[in-house]
Amino acid sequence: MTAARIAAAAEAAVTTARSSAGSTGLRPDTRLGDLFGIGQRNGAKLAKLGLETVADLLLYIPRRYEDTRELSSLESAVSGHHLTARVRVAAISIRKSPYRRMTLVEAVLEDATGSIRAVWFNQAYIAQQLSRGSELLVSGKVQYDRHGLSLSNPVFELVSHTQLHVGRLVPVYPETAGITSRFLRRHIEQLLPLARDLPDPLPAQIVASEGLVPIADAVAAAHFPENTGQIDLVRERFTFQKLFLLQLAAQRAQRRRQALRSISIPYDASAAREFVGSLPFSLTQGQRVAAHQILSDMANERAMNRLLQGDVGSGKTVVAAMAAFVACRAGFQTAIMAPTEVLARQHHQSLTALLSPLGLYPRLLVGSSKARARREILGGFAAGHEALVVGTHTLIEEGVELPHLGLVVVDEQHRFGVAQRQKLRQKRDVAPNFLAMTATPIPRSLALALYGDVNVTELREKPPGRQPVETRLVPGTGREQAYEFVRSQLMAGSQAFVICPLVEGSERLAVASAVEEFERLRNLVFPEFEVELLHGRMPAAEKQERMARFASGAAQLLVATSVVEVGVDVPNATVMLVEGADRFGLAQLHQFRGRVGRGDRASFCLLIASSDEEASAARLKALTEHESGFELAEIDLELRGPGDIIGLRQHGAVELETADLLNAQLMERARGAAALWLDQDPQLSSHPPLSAAMVPYREILDLD
Ligand code: ADP
Ligand code: MG
Repeated sequence: MTAARIAAAAEAAVTTARSSAGSTGLRPDTRLGDLFGIGQRNGAKLAKLGLETVADLLLYIPRRYEDTRELSSLESAVSGHHLTARVRVAAISIRKSPYRRMTLVEAVLEDATGSIRAVWFNQAYIAQQLSRGSELLVSGKVQYDRHGLSLSNPVFELVSHTQLHVGRLVPVYPETAGITSRFLRRHIEQLLPLARDLPDPLPAQIVASEGLVPIADAVAAAHFPENTGQIDLVRERFTFQKLFLLQLAAQRAQRRRQALRSISIPYDASAAREFVGSLPFSLTQGQRVAAHQILSDMANERAMNRLLQGDVGSGKTVVAAMAAFVACRAGFQTAIMAPTEVLARQHHQSLTALLSPLGLYPRLLVGSSKARARREILGGFAAGHEALVVGTHTLIEEGVELPHLGLVVVDEQHRFGVAQRQKLRQKRDVAPNFLAMTATPIPRSLALALYGDVNVTELREKPPGRQPVETRLVPGTGREQAYEFVRSQLMAGSQAFVICPLVEGSERLAVASAVEEFERLRNLVFPEFEVELLHGRMPAAEKQERMARFASGAAQLLVATSVVEVGVDVPNATVMLVEGADRFGLAQLHQFRGRVGRGDRASFCLLIASSDEEASAARLKALTEHESGFELAEIDLELRGPGDIIGLRQHGAVELETADLLNAQLMERARGAAALWLDQDPQLSSHPPLSAAMVPYREILDLD
């Protein structure tokens, strides 16, 4: 079946090869821009989709299929329904519409049973492609207007021996501006014979034992499925492949870690008691369990690899402080890293409050630290008489020496760049205990799927006395009312945040909108109050100064970009107003909301959306209904897929879909197959295409 398909396309490919400037040696690694039929300009557009070589294009798996296999006769056309038919062009004309200067190509299409009108807007070239008498397959939605039934912008294709665009299970690809599925179908068909030369990342043994479709057949069936059963087999094969690679990467890293000499920090129960006794409150049950798990992990002979998840304010920092204190008492150093300077300062402050009564003084090392202070701090650590450092990525970037490092705590790890994340875990011959903390919880199922061996602790309960934040959706027309509400809160002595959206994902434009909003609110809306501005493009010192003005209450209203997302702690703030709320992810909005409700007064989160698109409406509604970050993460996973949640999409090279990762049955098969393969080929050296294919997975998992 698929082999025949490949053979049938061979002819066309040979033609392509001949025409591509005399080169006959087309290979999977040939660059697309070098192909005669594609050219450098299209090559550049394809590169934007991550498609650089022939192999990339062949492995570009359709997003979905349109089934236009079933042909109907024109007499059966019904307004509002889809129609695919084999027709002849009875008449065709082109004219300019007086309205909005549109070009209209109009045709009358007929078959033995009747006729129908077709109209294409602003596609003048269609008049060249079709002429009276042309035989074509046409597919589209039937509409009814004052001229009768018609097809508006239908898909069509001249009848030939290979139907690419109509009359089959037609693949629809993820597209970008300037690259259509039609274009992709045409070129993929021509290059299809090269599928036979694609290296298969899966060893033949695995393909056989798992009963999977070999790569060449899978590629052919992906682009030219003969039935839906084949599509299922293709999906199974590629999903298995992704999960297998993911599992191999995770399990190999796990085996390596286990082989390392790890640092064992004795479980000092009396130090733990001393810490707990020094707190002005008692730990929640969740905190007690978390602390116990962490201290046990640190004490056993394997390096800890644990993820501590809990909403903002759930008390993670307290738990980390306890671990650091126990480590310090045992003579080990601890490094705590945060993704931003604001957050690092915040941690430094809370850790100082928690630990200085016990004689442990955390040091702070950030990008803006003065050279002298830096030297002094670094010297202290190198000499071994400092025990705890809090900082940003500068901690790793400057090769800070911590000779007795026993514990590394990383807050919001996913917010570090890929390169930085790799450095965090850079190879050492001794593995320190590793604790990741996040207030953007990912569902446990996803964490396990991704990391395999990570241990997950969840702080689901909040310390007593917390008030839920009342969350409301405000329609665009309700803005004035929202301002009045903010005003009443400010009058009562509270403070408020106004967050401005990312504009088309651009930090630069977000700053522009924050600056504008700041001016407007300060001059026109809230002239009677002190308004401050905070955004990521300010120098660190300025940010700090402005933040301090807000924190001290000197300013009542803070207009900011998403820089306030994490860490900012102003208990007197009771209103969080988010402009363009639909432009933020659910997790991020939940983080914003976490900036209020930290004191003992009732707090509010007002969300103003800039569009009423359905998908974002569902997200925002979820926020008004759920308080827990854990529940929201699960909803987010359903609504958006994991890529967006944990920043996988940034990576581009690998697209992991929710369904893939949560396919428990395939995941189990992949886990088992990976373990067996590692037993037999621990260095992963026996099948080079496998090692090559693993590179992006290792990066995703921050391995090696
Ligand atoms: P997180 O790091 O998870 O955002 P923190 O550890 O900073 O949370 O705790 C948030 C606030 O709650 C801090 O002011 C902290 O002192 C306080 N807190 C933490 N645990 C408790 C507790 N068990 N009881 C009362 N207050 C607590
Ligand atoms: Mg251990």
